[in-house]
Amino acid sequence: MQEKEVWKNILSCLETELSRAVVATFFRGTELELRENGSACVLCPHRLSADYLRTHYEEILNKRLEELTGTPWNLSFAVRSIPQSKPKELGPIFRSASHDGLFAGYTFENFVVGLSNQLAAAAAQAIVERPGQLHNPLFLYSRSGLGKTHLLHAIGNSVKLTQSDAQVLYCPAERFTNELVAAIQDRRSTASFRRKFRSVDLLLVDDVQFLAGREASQEEFFNTFNELYLAGKQVVLASDRNPSEIQKLEERLASRFSGGMMADIQEPDLDLRLGILQRKAVEKGASIGNETLLALAEKISGNIRQLEGALNQLLSLASAQNISPSVDLAATLGKSVVHQAALCPEEILVATARYLQIDLENLRSKKRNKEIVFARQIAAHLLRELGQLSLNKIGELLGGRDHTTILYGLQKIERELPNNPILRTQLQAAQVEILGKTS
Ligand code: ADP
Ligand code: MG
Repeated sequence: MQEKEVWKNILSCLETELSRAVVATFFRGTELELRENGSACVLCPHRLSADYLRTHYEEILNKRLEELTGTPWNLSFAVRSIPQSKPKELGPIFRSASHDGLFAGYTFENFVVGLSNQLAAAAAQAIVERPGQLHNPLFLYSRSGLGKTHLLHAIGNSVKLTQSDAQVLYCPAERFTNELVAAIQDRRSTASFRRKFRSVDLLLVDDVQFLAGREASQEEFFNTFNELYLAGKQVVLASDRNPSEIQKLEERLASRFSGGMMADIQEPDLDLRLGILQRKAVEKGASIGNETLLALAEKISGNIRQLEGALNQLLSLASAQNISPSVDLAATLGKSVVHQAALCPEEILVATARYLQIDLENLRSKKRNKEIVFARQIAAHLLRELGQLSLNKIGELLGGRDHTTILYGLQKIERELPNNPILRTQLQAAQVEILGKTS
């Protein structure tokens, strides 16, 4: 059998075991290379995907490969070098969402409810039952990583399920602004811009704090809001703070935002953290003892994104050492995740460059080809997440770039995350690996 056929066979086996969507997402752009010396290599389009496949699918791939060819192989994962002339190869990581902008993976079913988020979750559920009638607008706010984006998508997905003819649109405020700017530049498209936003039954706008200081966007958004509101359509907004705390937000918008129902999400308590870990472990098909999960939940407080990252790291460590996840193992990794605030920025940068397998020089250079720009944006994201650095400091570390350039890159990644599970998981994996190396 040819390599190509072997790989095709394996992938179609996996489709039945893991589902077609998983295979389409995680194995996109991969190839198999079989060598005479008994080594088999899975070639991946980029480092992040190679790491992900190694951590999650090495065992099952090994098994299927041996079954299919009748001999054992020494399996490895590598990055296929990307020809310069085809920078589009990096494309899959920026998969675009369906036109309603919804990510099907964020649902009410996989949103774990606890004391800190029950008000927000209940308000969100109520929207689905009676859109436009109960809480309009619903305004969700909290620190980052506590589930606002997840709830917005859950509302959208659920409304689509229960009312199949409803027009739903999820849009981060930044995209609203960008599309508005583009529409204004090309006069003919203002009408279609308005039609797009004003013809929906449910408008979900994420990160509305982004509108701060942007006058044209605020004006347009105010009119969009009023038109939808008067027509009895539902609007749901999410922000990293309360409307009254968003500076440079026009008074009339702030008062519209707070005119319906406001629900905040607080830091998750221990019970909720444990509940989320249990849920995520089941989703990943991993069997981890409750004491181990509890140890993890005790170590990592605050951000739920970090909690997921820690769980992933625990699973990769266990599989790398061929042992089951234990309280002791959880103790070793908690340390690096908890102490992240103390990381030195230069160390993070060096570890990030190493992780992405890109020269530090290139990250800092003026080069603008797609791969390097993308790597630079990922580096900025990791510096921000791991080092909590200012935009100016990140710009300085990345070759003296302007803070607006850094902001643009960060927003690009941030915007991509809800729609792109592979990028999300991989960035988490990158974070925990880098933390492991620097502490
Ligand atoms: P925010 O928009 O508030 O920054 P997100 O909605 O992006 O936060 O949540 C960060 C991550 O944590 C996502 O992967 C999300 O699925 C997960 N998450 C947050 N809250 C919960 C919850 N209650 N149950 C399950 N997963 C959650
Ligand atoms: Mg969000």
